[in-house]
Amino acid sequence: MQLSGAIVDGEQIAGAGKLDVLDPATGKLAGTVLAASDAEAMAAVAAAKAAFAGWAARSQAERAAAVARCADILERNSEELARLLTREQGKPLGGMGSRFELGGTVAWTRYTAGLSLPAEVIQDDAQSHVAIYRKPLGVVVSITPWNWPVMIAIWHIMPALQAGNTVVIKPSPLTPLSTLRVVALLQEALPPGVLNAVAGPDSIGPVLTSHPDVAKVCFTGSTRTGIKVMSSAAPTVKRLTLELGGNDAGIVLPDCDPNAIAEGLFWGALINNGQTCAALKRLYVHDSIYEQVCQALKGFAGGVKTGNGFNEDSLLGPIQNRMQFDKVSRLVEQAKSAGGRVLCGGEASGGDGYFYPVTLIADAEKGMALVDEEQFGPALPIIRYSKLDDALEQANGLDAGLGGSVWSSDIARARDIAMQLECGTAWVNKHGGLRPDTPFGGVKASGFGVEFGPHGLDEFVSLHVIHD
Ligand code: NDP
Repeated sequence: MQLSGAIVDGEQIAGAGKLDVLDPATGKLAGTVLAASDAEAMAAVAAAKAAFAGWAARSQAERAAAVARCADILERNSEELARLLTREQGKPLGGMGSRFELGGTVAWTRYTAGLSLPAEVIQDDAQSHVAIYRKPLGVVVSITPWNWPVMIAIWHIMPALQAGNTVVIKPSPLTPLSTLRVVALLQEALPPGVLNAVAGPDSIGPVLTSHPDVAKVCFTGSTRTGIKVMSSAAPTVKRLTLELGGNDAGIVLPDCDPNAIAEGLFWGALINNGQTCAALKRLYVHDSIYEQVCQALKGFAGGVKTGNGFNEDSLLGPIQNRMQFDKVSRLVEQAKSAGGRVLCGGEASGGDGYFYPVTLIADAEKGMALVDEEQFGPALPIIRYSKLDDALEQANGLDAGLGGSVWSSDIARARDIAMQLECGTAWVNKHGGLRPDTPFGGVKASGFGVEFGPHGLDEFVSLHVIHD
């Protein structure tokens, strides 16, 4: 498969460069992008700028109808897109893999088409009329990562369009194929220039994030890169939404039934092979049930098949890329040499592709890199605690603050403890369920701004107040 690296003003443009995309299950070529250059990135911003006035002037109902048509197009093409996603990302077609991701994109798009931007009247009497209006910002740049490439693209694109902005998206060079295909398909529902895409070398990102005609950047990725995006956007005072990943803690209280929570804990941590921003990445378990929880998790893990994503019985695929594979291997090796006890996995699988087995490390402690750093892979450290205050202090002791969870049979107490977690979302007896109608975002080094629902839509408008 060979795709044009730029979609600008409704036209596919083949760039002069070449970007090879690898299938992480085999290490072989998944496809080639005729890569865009800085010039195409500039042209994409110009096209989005030129299309803005016309798109913003459309009625809310017209824009909503176009976004709803996007949902139909995604739904009609979801099997083709799911297969392309598996090819370049590695996640399985089934389970919580590519078909699940495509289902989510359709649901999120359809929900977003139902959102409105109401005017609010603060005062309306003989003395004064004061009202707040919501106006689109202009050109929005979306920069996306390789873990949930299609879903995250849709999370950025759809509210931006619904609010009347135009968009330039730059996918990760590791997974550009499905995003380019999505943007090509969606042209049918949108006027030229409203949604543009550029995929190419690393220089493109900074061109977009510093461009004076860009009003806002939506970025999902690492904190390190988020900081670069923020400083690049600062001279032109752009708005930002930064979703920078996390190192979510889960705290298991002594009143839990280990076997009853094992499945929820497992998928909270291992969804998408742990390559999920709001996955459970550090598990704190009370001393009194520690071994039982470890054994219950190990037992559950034994029934989960890792394999090529095109095998319908695979529930987990390979790690997406070499860099991440090396990072997970390094963190597990360090944990082992620092006294971590391997319950399962613990060694790279060997053979073709970036396969790494589900790895559960007991007797993990703070100070181990596997605990302190975001592993973003299929390796979960399990930490023993005896005092809740100590578990809470450790859970809140890192810079990250995206998600967290508390596990207990006493829901009211668990909710109370969840309130003490320093994060954007805390779950009780589950970890990681997102909803299109509920805001999602981080605190501390996990970023700022929220996505989803009316609160998320408000991040794509400026408030304009009229007093008369
Ligand atoms: P990055 O944060 O480096 O990349 C994410 C996106 O940002 C890519 O599209 C990348 O494209 C782009 N980018 C990189 N540098 C810049 C820049 N200066 N200006 C604008 N855009 C830029 O993630 P990595 O892929 O390198 O992964 C590193 C770590 O990040 C992982 O180990 C994991 O811990 C974390 N991560 C978190 C994610 C999350 O969901 N929050 C998702 C992915 C990773 P390009 O490379 O072409 O510049």
